[in-house]
Amino acid sequence: MAEKQLFVVFGATGAQGSSVVKALLKDGTFKVRGVTRNPCKKAANDLKELGAEIVTGDLDDAESVKSVLTGAYGVFLVTNFLEHFSKEREIKQGKLVADTSKSLGLKHVVFSGLDNVKKLTNGELEVPHYDSKGEVEEYFREIDVPMTSVRLPAYFENLLTHTKPQKAPDGDGYTIAIPMEDVPVRCMSVADLGPMVLSILKSQEQYIGKNINLHTDEVTTEEMATILSKHTGKKIRDAKISIEDYEKQNSAKYKAMANMFRFFKIKSDYNKELTWKLNPKSRTFDEWVKKNTDMLTAILS
Ligand code: NAP
Repeated sequence: MAEKQLFVVFGATGAQGSSVVKALLKDGTFKVRGVTRNPCKKAANDLKELGAEIVTGDLDDAESVKSVLTGAYGVFLVTNFLEHFSKEREIKQGKLVADTSKSLGLKHVVFSGLDNVKKLTNGELEVPHYDSKGEVEEYFREIDVPMTSVRLPAYFENLLTHTKPQKAPDGDGYTIAIPMEDVPVRCMSVADLGPMVLSILKSQEQYIGKNINLHTDEVTTEEMATILSKHTGKKIRDAKISIEDYEKQNSAKYKAMANMFRFFKIKSDYNKELTWKLNPKSRTFDEWVKKNTDMLTAILS
């Protein structure tokens, strides 16, 4: 029997990468190598127990990137802007994997990319964590590496972290502060990504060279609040915050996020049907909230 091909996953201990590792292990077509800077952490051990090879690697270190990619058929790459907030560093990490994939002759890179908003809006809107990933997408194409970009929308899981409902200032329940007014947010569960990447790898001829704008659902902030209230039994409302007030929260991070929400309002090239085709077992927002009601209720202190 032919030996299984090796697929490497960066960010294996994180939200996106762990979903990819789990889906690939469950399927069994590939040998899976998960990369982390700290192989002793629990998330790494959990994947090891499921059957992944766990190796030490650092996207800031060219030698280690070469070492973890040597012998691989392909790689899933996610870079984590939110760890350092440096556009330059994220671009450098992405280009390093692109150059190394090229020199080692990898057959398929699945990159967690995003739009280059600055370029698309002729400099009107800058969203550093989008623009950097957009530049990396362009670089992969420039140097002719076989690459599919999976552009993730807002995770449903953000409601457990960045956009978790806050106690309402008037003491009446909770509010969610997402400045989208009545425009729906395109979103999905990051846990549903893995099977999508697997489908892409299994039909690579259809997807190499494509940017896939994933989303499984679209919900307004008000609908989100209604669905959360229904399942948690808590009163949750749309904070109805304007982009201008959101932006006034006084840091570069909020400025970038405000521009991201402005971009969400004009972006229209999503691939919802294709997202569901890539993973027919994906969840809608309502299904995800229903499944995670305990966790969502627990964070409402
Ligand atoms: P996460 O759960 O925080 O995990 C980050 C992963 O990156 C960890 O596995 C970490 O590994 C790895 N990592 C970070 N720096 C590394 C380095 N120098 N070398 C090797 N590995 C490194 O993050 P995630 O949610 O999967 O992905 C974050 C990215 O998703 C961000 O860039 C963000 O812009 C993008 N994104 C987020 C959303 C959203 O709605 N939240 C939507 C679209 C895109 P170790 O610590 O184990 O080394």
